[in-house]
Amino acid sequence: MIPIKSYWRLLKTYLRPYRARVVVLTTLLFSGIALQVINPQIIRIFIDRATEGTELDALLGISVVFILIAVVQQALAVVATYFAQQIGWSATNELRRDLADHLLHLDMGFHKTHTPGELVERIDGDVTALSNFFSQFVIHVVGNVALLVGVLFFLFRESVLIGTSLVLFSAATLAVMVKMQEVATDWWARVKAHKATFYGFLGEVVGSTEDIRGLGAGRFMVRRFTQITRAWLPDEVRGRWGWSILWGTNIVVFVAGTAIVFGLGSWLFETDVLTLGSVYVVFHYTEMLRHPLDRIRHQMEDMQKAAAGISRIQNLFAIESRLPHDGTEVLPSGPLSIELSDLDFSYVDDSADGDRVLHGLNLSLEAGKVLGVLGRTGSGKSTLARLLTRLYDPEGGEVRLGGVALRSADIDHVRRRVGMVTQDVQLFRATIRDNLTFFDETVSDERIWQAIAALGLTDWIESMPEGIDTVLDAGGSSLSAGEAQLLAFTRIFLEDSGLVVLDEASSRLDPVTEALIERAVDRLLQDRTGVIIAHRLDTLNRADEVLILDDGRIVEAGNRAALAADPGSQFHGLLLAGMEEVLG
Ligand code: ATP
Ligand code: MG
Repeated sequence: MIPIKSYWRLLKTYLRPYRARVVVLTTLLFSGIALQVINPQIIRIFIDRATEGTELDALLGISVVFILIAVVQQALAVVATYFAQQIGWSATNELRRDLADHLLHLDMGFHKTHTPGELVERIDGDVTALSNFFSQFVIHVVGNVALLVGVLFFLFRESVLIGTSLVLFSAATLAVMVKMQEVATDWWARVKAHKATFYGFLGEVVGSTEDIRGLGAGRFMVRRFTQITRAWLPDEVRGRWGWSILWGTNIVVFVAGTAIVFGLGSWLFETDVLTLGSVYVVFHYTEMLRHPLDRIRHQMEDMQKAAAGISRIQNLFAIESRLPHDGTEVLPSGPLSIELSDLDFSYVDDSADGDRVLHGLNLSLEAGKVLGVLGRTGSGKSTLARLLTRLYDPEGGEVRLGGVALRSADIDHVRRRVGMVTQDVQLFRATIRDNLTFFDETVSDERIWQAIAALGLTDWIESMPEGIDTVLDAGGSSLSAGEAQLLAFTRIFLEDSGLVVLDEASSRLDPVTEALIERAVDRLLQDRTGVIIAHRLDTLNRADEVLILDDGRIVEAGNRAALAADPGSQFHGLLLAGMEEVLG
């Protein structure tokens, strides 16, 4: 059933800004209903007068009134639809925005376990199911019940017998429809589940076209595609079948209703209880019953969908970020010192010891220094970078930047003061400018060009067809990994970072790009603390300190020059053997 409380809370929150329009809409709908109930009375007068043989002029007058009322009623309906759509979309767009905002603030762990396609379906699909509900639900249900009562009232006035029969008829119809509805809704829920799986799959495949082609996995993907759609088909057929049955029942039931009315009507007319006009009115009202009954049924259907939507939305809102956002402290300005104390970390909740990725790391780095991090693949280097930038919170111990514990610092502030360039840089299908500023239009061209010049990239950017207005392909597929990193450096340069964490691309770079990167990194690390996860010896040359990780533990840490000079150190051995061979 519907969670009434959460339903009201949602309605109240999201409709409050549109209070005035909701009042207008309610007035429109109720006026429309009143006119709908009144108009048949005019037809009755017309028919009775006509059978009595009234003058043509009087009859013409009556028909003009009838037409006027009908026109006004239609006009009201049009305006009401406009308002309903407007309110529905405005309110649900706000809900969509709040949901998207909530999701964007959830931790990386959440995002790793949900496909983008699934989230799109949950933000957009579920909310769209609610939109009808928001604008019209209460009004329509109340309005249709009012219409139903109004119609039944007039029927009773015509004849108690007919009134009673049609009340029983309406109750029975509604009961049958609701019952069928339940079955059909269950069937439909299965269809929706298939849809979510399908779009999740599709999103992933489209996102990794290159890998799929490169690995020749296309046929497997098509097979998977077929499997999903094949599982979907029978449920889809059954779901639609359910609707057809509902629809068919509807027709049968109303034909029966009409038959009852004609039977009773002709009998009451023969026995002179009703005039011809009254029989017509009864018939007309019975036809009118079809609308509210059908709409109430429809609203039930919307309500079921909305109820599912509401509970899914509530569940989504209820997911709390594993990164609390309640810190308020700010980091000091300028380069940031780093302190790690007994840092433990695991990607899984309630982890056992075997899941640990980092084990009791201790380290301190002075502000403005550069730390080079080395280690085999899978040793936890990128994980350490994620803790430094607070993409995750440690399971034990803490990270302090500039003396402030990250957990108690304001997270938005941390995001601005700590910059990270990851192994694969995410670029958008947008101009270079938008990629650099993340669509922040307040950043002036001048500042962008300054940053580009400071990193020594002016020539490179100018060689692009349209400079900073060049549009990059989706996923940055028109740039090499190294070039993408260059853009990421510029992003950081535009922010006021005090710590730069650089996860070097492990792929080999061409000499030109490599030279550009060397220069840019040098420039970026001036007046900033740096943590460089290095895959090449050259990059390490600018490190003051070196840290070697193995299986999530620090096996060696210290001054680079001192370690290099110490024949007993692992770092020394690494330099002799060549890094690629040892770490590769
Ligand atoms: P590379 O040199 O290949 O980049 P790395 O040192 O950066 O390796 P990490 O990415 O930190 O290694 O991974 C450390 C360990 O954590 C690995 O065992 C990996 O399987 C695991 N791991 C990494 N990311 C996740 C994740 N999102 N969820 C679960 N486990 C993860
Ligand atoms: Mg890594």
